[in-house]
Amino acid sequence: MQNQAKRPFVRPLAAMLALTLAGGLFSASAVSAGAPPAAPAAPHSAIAPVAAPAMPKAAPVAPAAAPAPAAGPVAVPAGDPNEAIRKAIAERIAGKGEVVLKSTGVAPASQTKKRAAPKKHTVHWSYEGEGGPHNWGKLSKQYLACSNGKNQSPIAVEADSMLNLDLPAIDFDYRDSRFSIVDNGHTVEVKYLEGGAMTILGQRYELVQFHFHRPAEEVVNGKRYDMVAHLVHKNSKGQLAVVAVLLTLGEENRFIQTLWNHMPIEKKKPIEPPTAKVDLAKFLPANKAYFHYMGSLTTPPCTEGVAWYILQSPVEVSAGQVEVFSKMYANNARPTQRMNGRLVKASRAPADGVASKPAPAMTSMPRIPRAGGQ
Ligand SMILES: [Zn+2]
Repeated sequence: MQNQAKRPFVRPLAAMLALTLAGGLFSASAVSAGAPPAAPAAPHSAIAPVAAPAMPKAAPVAPAAAPAPAAGPVAVPAGDPNEAIRKAIAERIAGKGEVVLKSTGVAPASQTKKRAAPKKHTVHWSYEGEGGPHNWGKLSKQYLACSNGKNQSPIAVEADSMLNLDLPAIDFDYRDSRFSIVDNGHTVEVKYLEGGAMTILGQRYELVQFHFHRPAEEVVNGKRYDMVAHLVHKNSKGQLAVVAVLLTLGEENRFIQTLWNHMPIEKKKPIEPPTAKVDLAKFLPANKAYFHYMGSLTTPPCTEGVAWYILQSPVEVSAGQVEVFSKMYANNARPTQRMNGRLVKASRAPADGVASKPAPAMTSMPRIPRAGGQ
């Protein structure tokens, strides 16, 4: 966020090109949606992003989180973000390969790491240092939306952009399921082996995977929760809907504990427990009121067009359970992004779960005078 605020305005032409380029990326990502589970995957990258203009002229690109393609790297001076973007676009059009940052000896203030010789190397995205969120848009032409996008996630949900409304309930169709769990290098990601889905306004979205961030990426009314789970869904058109379940310190969470009991200690090696099952339905809070806005993936390639549903009620997780995750990922939260005039719809009353909410105690009700003698 702070970096974005300082970023020089990018020229409209470059922005247009970026959009077109992103279109090319989308179609390539869609192709990668069926990739084998062993393929390195970013938190959201196993999913085909959203309806976007295809760009048949563009050469196919590798899945966003895959290692650098075989094509020769193109050196881009690290100093000037606009220069990097212009060069990346030019190289993209020329059909060349991965864009890498090259040390020029005139490193910007944000680059604190010292490197001995001006040799080329690919920088992989991460949450700190040279590959950190403020640089994601420069790391690869495929990541341009991370810096140029106008509808990025996560956001700080605040009252001044909120529309308080009666919103339709989300119908969650989750059941007991075996799972696979992997440390994908950026988060702990879980796949539901028996599937699940959510339906809203008649649109059914299948559960693709869910994963965790610490701390929570979303900020709600100024509060940042300890962790968040992102439940990533996709409909038949390839459009994404992500449900965010905020986690706050409290009682131990059985759902989380079952997952953690099978925590992988090696990266990119999925574990598939033979008998253990979890039930997302039991993980969700009873009150399913939510905030809804349009945003993006919160990891490169930061693809936009993602429908976000942040459940307003957090669920509890113990300090020990947060500690387990933080030994793997102490900070894997992207900073909040500019709203750029976006609005957030908020359920003004519980969207469902109303029936399970206990009625107010009689003692708090106004006393109704009885008719005499009855
Ligand atoms: Zn996420």
